[in-house]
Amino acid sequence: MAKPLIAGNWKMNTTLQDGMVLATALQQLLEGVTGVEVVLCPPFVSVAAVAAALRGSPLKVGAQNMHHEDKGAFTGEVSAPMLRDLCQYVIVGHSERRRDFGETDEVVNRKVKKALEVGLRPILCVGESLEQRQRGIYAAVVMRSLMACLDGVEAPNGLVVAYEPVWAIGTGMAASGEQAQVMAGLVRQVLGQRFGEGVAASVPVLYGGSVTPANIQEFVSQPDIDGALVGGASLDAKQFAEIVRITARARAGRPG
Ligand code: PEP
Repeated sequence: MAKPLIAGNWKMNTTLQDGMVLATALQQLLEGVTGVEVVLCPPFVSVAAVAAALRGSPLKVGAQNMHHEDKGAFTGEVSAPMLRDLCQYVIVGHSERRRDFGETDEVVNRKVKKALEVGLRPILCVGESLEQRQRGIYAAVVMRSLMACLDGVEAPNGLVVAYEPVWAIGTGMAASGEQAQVMAGLVRQVLGQRFGEGVAASVPVLYGGSVTPANIQEFVSQPDIDGALVGGASLDAKQFAEIVRITARARAGRPG
């Protein structure tokens, strides 16, 4: 079983100073909490400073995006080799990038491969829209998207997959534990077919979409859900720390 993982996606929030205050508060609130990998994903401009502030602490840092090329004429972009020295994780294929910046599965696939190549752990996001859920095609959509994003990936060492139904992100309308488990199970099944059962079991599968301290227990008590990708609630140190604490308690005693 994968180690539980809780990642906070700060999105385009927090100035450098806000980010430092938030990271420092979390470091204090989470002192002594073990058994959960905690990842903070600030905006690019704060990644280096937050990473420096957290040096020596078990908290990890991630970026929210990256370009799939190493370098070149891509104004405004940041590459994997630039991030590798600063942080350990990178979110790829978030639905806001897909929706607002036209990222396709093909582009996301290139990012996944590049992140793995340089030793960054990609948090690969997949999920269906409300319309796709209502039409009953959500399982097929997510399965196809996941397979496309993993096309050509040989060894997914370090891969993390986040199932994030688009209709649940930032809406306050979280999926039920049961709905999330069905999809996390499907993700695990696809990973098993692609890489074998042993590898599939070791990949953390997260749920994301309006996670709060009030509902995290429902998700992390599911057999195929290893944690959460948290947006809004990750901006509140007390709420985020509580999500981590509940996860640590829920998973204590379970093998892995
Ligand atoms: C997200 O941004 O990935 C997310 C899940 O956001 P929220 O928790 O606010 O729904």
